[in-house]
Amino acid sequence: MIFKTLFLILICSKCVTSEVLTIGGIFYSDSEDLKAALVVSAKMYDFNVSMREVPRNGQILDLNGVVCELAEEGVIGIIDGTGGQSTEFIQALCDMLELPHVTIQHNDINDKNAFILNLHPSSAAYNMVMEKLVALKEWPNFTILYIKGYNIARISSLLKMNTHNDRYIVTVRELSGDDYRDALILARDSGYTNFVVDCPSANLELILKHAQEVGLMADEHSYIFVSTDLFTMDLERYRYGGVNMTGLNLRDLEHNDDLWYFTDMFNKESGLALESDQLKSKILLIHDAVLIFRKATEKMKKYFTKPVDLSCENFTSWNQGSSLLNFMKTNKVDGFTRSLLFDGYGDRNNVIFDILEVTPAGNQTIGNWINSDLKISREFLGSTEIVEETIMRNRTFKVLISTSPPYGYVKESTHQLEGNDRYEGFTIDLIEKLSQILGFNYEFETENDYGSWDNKTKKWNGMVLQLMEDKADFAICDFTITSIRQSAVDFSTPFMTLGIGILYKTPSKQPPAMFSFMAVFSKEVWYYMVLVQLCLGLIMIFVGRISHKEWQNLVPCIETPEELTNQFSFANSVWLIIGSVMQQGSEIAPIALAPRLITSVWWFFTMVIVASYVGTLVAFLTVEKDVLPFETVEELYKHKSISYGAKKIGSTKDFFEHATNPTLMSMYKKMIENNWLVENNDIGVAKTENDTYAFFMESTSLEYYKERHCDLLQIGNLLDSKSYGIGMKKGSPYKKYIDYGLLKLKESGEIEKLKNIWWKEKRGGGKCGIKQDEELKQLGLKNMLGAFVVLGAGSIIGLFISIIDMLWGVFKRSIKYNTTFKYELVEELKFALKFNGDIKPVKRPSRVQGSTETLADVEAKDEVKSLPSIRSGRSSDTHRTHHSHSSKHSSSGLSVAFARRRKFS
Ligand code: GLU
Repeated sequence: MIFKTLFLILICSKCVTSEVLTIGGIFYSDSEDLKAALVVSAKMYDFNVSMREVPRNGQILDLNGVVCELAEEGVIGIIDGTGGQSTEFIQALCDMLELPHVTIQHNDINDKNAFILNLHPSSAAYNMVMEKLVALKEWPNFTILYIKGYNIARISSLLKMNTHNDRYIVTVRELSGDDYRDALILARDSGYTNFVVDCPSANLELILKHAQEVGLMADEHSYIFVSTDLFTMDLERYRYGGVNMTGLNLRDLEHNDDLWYFTDMFNKESGLALESDQLKSKILLIHDAVLIFRKATEKMKKYFTKPVDLSCENFTSWNQGSSLLNFMKTNKVDGFTRSLLFDGYGDRNNVIFDILEVTPAGNQTIGNWINSDLKISREFLGSTEIVEETIMRNRTFKVLISTSPPYGYVKESTHQLEGNDRYEGFTIDLIEKLSQILGFNYEFETENDYGSWDNKTKKWNGMVLQLMEDKADFAICDFTITSIRQSAVDFSTPFMTLGIGILYKTPSKQPPAMFSFMAVFSKEVWYYMVLVQLCLGLIMIFVGRISHKEWQNLVPCIETPEELTNQFSFANSVWLIIGSVMQQGSEIAPIALAPRLITSVWWFFTMVIVASYVGTLVAFLTVEKDVLPFETVEELYKHKSISYGAKKIGSTKDFFEHATNPTLMSMYKKMIENNWLVENNDIGVAKTENDTYAFFMESTSLEYYKERHCDLLQIGNLLDSKSYGIGMKKGSPYKKYIDYGLLKLKESGEIEKLKNIWWKEKRGGGKCGIKQDEELKQLGLKNMLGAFVVLGAGSIIGLFISIIDMLWGVFKRSIKYNTTFKYELVEELKFALKFNGDIKPVKRPSRVQGSTETLADVEAKDEVKSLPSIRSGRSSDTHRTHHSHSSKHSSSGLSVAFARRRKFS
């Protein structure tokens, strides 16, 4: 019975002491991540949470309401995620209620007796670090970049750095809006290359992006970032640009287990998928705030009582508030942001920052800020020197090479060579250049089997196996990056791209074909020329018909002809056009300005076309062409008399072996059945030269052999696309350094230079010289376009002039015969667009009854005075007559008879 009572008492006491305490939280409504962090941290440390949201631009009364509500709920303290004036107001209320107030945003606390703890490092701490960093970098000048409206108290001392001496030139630039490029361009143009960036972490990404876009991320640029969140971002794209970026880190990178657990819970709560090192400082500070509450309440456990009946209205305060705050300030706790100790003002004591730099080899810690002292473990480095820091420095690696030209050769020498000296070639030089950048040593070992998966033994062989078994560190040769090899070893970034090509003997020449003269112009040019002639014929007829000067009196001896005639019939127009194309001319000669203009442009066009044709025709009739026995791999397959093959062991053979295309599969079968595969490229090339054999080879090697065997050429397009890389063991820690070195060599053009040396100069390179490209160049529309454009423009101008001419005539007639302009225009157009009848009556019936004769006579007299012969076509002062549009032209009369006679003569 006694035991039973004791047991009940124990349980009851446990109930009281283990009562779950509540922490209050006040956040802006859009701070989802901070709210999630508080929920998760509270769960981790057994607290309840009572959270309130306030709008960013809310009223003081809103804040008053939420703080008082929380106090009445009995929270043991408030974690404040707001900052600025809101924090000041919350602080005032918490002071009154004697409720611990923990803030994670940057605030300057001036009141020693305030009930506040500021987890964000103080402005004083930031200012000290920044001053030291700037001094250490020995910048003679720097520009402060800050975001409009952002408090730059953390770097205020930098602004004063030039007040007492003229050692520093300090410029300040404000970035505003959501496009910083204009301000950054101004900063760039001022010529200063050093920057201190103070901005909220949310703006960092955009600043970096825009700085890169305006060219402020190059070798000569150097940055210090005040935000402790720089290294939570992905800085990969800035690593190789040469820019020097230094920043601070607040988190304790050692705090692994708890941090991983917290990150996992945080991701679940927030729906994000962040890594531990991507969590922003404020999220970690929320955790640390909850942690100090937990540690302090644990310490006070025995005499801790939760606040009851707190009320803003009654001005009651919590009698244990100040004790709790004191425990929180003095209790030594290590959080995610390291030691959480506070001074009398509630600011963090002895805050620790890591100083990090972005380098091509990743983010590197270069020092720390501890006990108000900056300790730098290595000098700030320029991008070119950073490589010296790599873990490869002074180490000796075993490098596999192959003696496959031009990647590796055994050196020819009169005396015995030793060690690495025995070899030369493209890859030998490449590894030497890499070693100079990365500072490592190497020993060569030759291996001519690059490595493939043996399905029978279920094992890798060659270089791949050696790398896998750690027998060598790197393999460098024409080592093709393939997916299957990539599953076993790692490859560096590619240093050459290529594809499989077909090497074959240069075929015999064949004389030109029977209709090779047609090949001078491409088909389109021929089509367009026919089309242009037809269109121009129609234009000439139309222009001829509406041009008054083209209507001529056939019989000059008749002063007042009844009808006029026009030479621009369809037949005549086409004859004029064809005559000039054939360079023969014709007796048709335009008289009016517009037809003359169009004809001149046409003559110009024909001159260009004929000159181009004749100039090119000779080549087409004389040059003999290579007639290739096949042009594609399919044609090669069908060509029964040509054998083909590839290197016996290598990615080219693998390409055929694993092909899904039926032709390639059948080709592979034939290669195996007929034993057409060869031991190495040299043998394949010799076989190609001496037999009827096509050799499948990688385009880079193919280029090399073509330079030395002038009777060989590449046929068709590449069958695939791949690259060469340096092979190394899976997960090799050296990959990123090798990648960096290769990128540097690529960027500086070194790899291209080496390629030129080993392909075109050394070991018989350049023997074939520059092969004359004898391929005949057909004249296509692209070549002749200019002539077509001139013709089009000339025709349009001619058409335009003739229309003006016609309108002017129409206008004059409408005045003369007292008709409307529209009436005359319609009549004129009707006649012109008939495209029929080259005779036009002169007389016109009057629209006023009884006056017909008189009017027509007057018109004829007025306008037909003398007409020279049409045949001459050289009329300069032709008098025109107007015609009657309403009448059909008469088939009788003297002038008609003359006109007909001329027409058929
Ligand atoms: N580069 C090839 C390889 O890595 C060898 C040459 C070839 O197959 O054509 O296997």
